[in-house]
Amino acid sequence: MAKIKSVHAYEIIDSRGCPTLEGQLTLDNGAVVTTSIPSGTSVGKHEAVELRDHDARRFAGMGVTRAVSYINSLIAPKLVGASPLKQQEIDYWLIKADGSKDKSTLGANTLLLVSQLILKAGAADQNLALFRYVNQVYKNNFKSDIKLEKVPSPIFNIINGGKHANNSLEFQEFQIIPSSSFSYTKAYEMGVELFHELKHVLKYRNANVSVGEEGGFTPNFTTNLDAPEVINETIVQLNLKPGLDVFIGFDIAASHFYKDDRYIIKDRPHPLKKEEYIEFLKKVVANYSVLIIEDPIDEDDWDGWKKFSSVMPDEIYIVGDDLLTTNKERLLKAIKEKACTTILIKPNQIGTITETLEVVDTARKNNFNYIVSHRSGETNDCLIADFAVGIQADFVKFGAPSRGERVAKYNRLWQIDRDELKPST
Ligand code: PEP
Ligand code: MG
Repeated sequence: MAKIKSVHAYEIIDSRGCPTLEGQLTLDNGAVVTTSIPSGTSVGKHEAVELRDHDARRFAGMGVTRAVSYINSLIAPKLVGASPLKQQEIDYWLIKADGSKDKSTLGANTLLLVSQLILKAGAADQNLALFRYVNQVYKNNFKSDIKLEKVPSPIFNIINGGKHANNSLEFQEFQIIPSSSFSYTKAYEMGVELFHELKHVLKYRNANVSVGEEGGFTPNFTTNLDAPEVINETIVQLNLKPGLDVFIGFDIAASHFYKDDRYIIKDRPHPLKKEEYIEFLKKVVANYSVLIIEDPIDEDDWDGWKKFSSVMPDEIYIVGDDLLTTNKERLLKAIKEKACTTILIKPNQIGTITETLEVVDTARKNNFNYIVSHRSGETNDCLIADFAVGIQADFVKFGAPSRGERVAKYNRLWQIDRDELKPST
């Protein structure tokens, strides 16, 4: 079994043009692994804290040199000689070294970089594809098997709004979801073809076809519901059936337009009271072929979430992202209060691989669905693609099938679907 020879972190620039952490770990058998850390733009209030320099003289304060030096001077020397197979032990040690509840001492980005390096080094040591190793780590930690059966179905965010675009849309993501009866390969093909068809539909309507932070188009529409209208038109143009071949999803990210107890959206002439807003969303779900609805309600309004969930049809995935922030305590509360049915899994919301797997395990043991998600600020690292396969997520959400940092992950899933999953299962 190989031992850790060195760990080295440094700054790189992410897909939004902001600094983030990358690092390399070298094993004493010569193997080298590299990983990097994503970052959100639409950040939930309850997420673990990302450490930034806040030095206005560099990168408008967004530098991560403090995180780099914590890793290189404090953490790395202590890891030399350790086994990369001790994921849980090392993660618990990192959590203890940080000592805060929200990872604000060392930073969730600092901790996660080390945690991800250990994960990749463990896979390299075991000579396993990363998704198989993730599956094994889960099994070792929780004494429970997840059968590796399929590549999760993709959710494509093809129209960007909210904080991910400077257009008129308040809702953050308008998604297409090919039916999960299709293989990943077929679903990817459909997603790409729909993306191109949508571009034609938008051009025909003289709408803007430049893309936003997650690779989806950023048209200016009069109302949010113009977006599912053009998406439906696009689906039909390709002779596909909405609600059968392809479904519609939303990440509403409602906390960003919730002010003074009211939801403020273009679709209605006055700010909406919670009850009126829930009625509005009920109609949206009834009028479009909606399968997924994320963050429909403000991140602190548990009562609103309960009310919303109680009026939704059973087959809808009601997803907590800003509500749950990949946090086990918040997930347990959501399960108890029946606030939603699905958790979005973003490792950097909590800060270590071990805690992320604990959240996945809690979801599994409570029949709660889970979706693995990218962040709006991404790198070309594909770790979350393998992670999603290893834990057999219900869906993955990696943005539109456009922009290098998004398709890197979708392409990795394609490779797994085509070449790696089936032969040995
Ligand atoms: C999201 O809100 O689901 C998302 C991926 O965006 P961000 O990374 O900006 O939080
Ligand atoms: Mg979200």
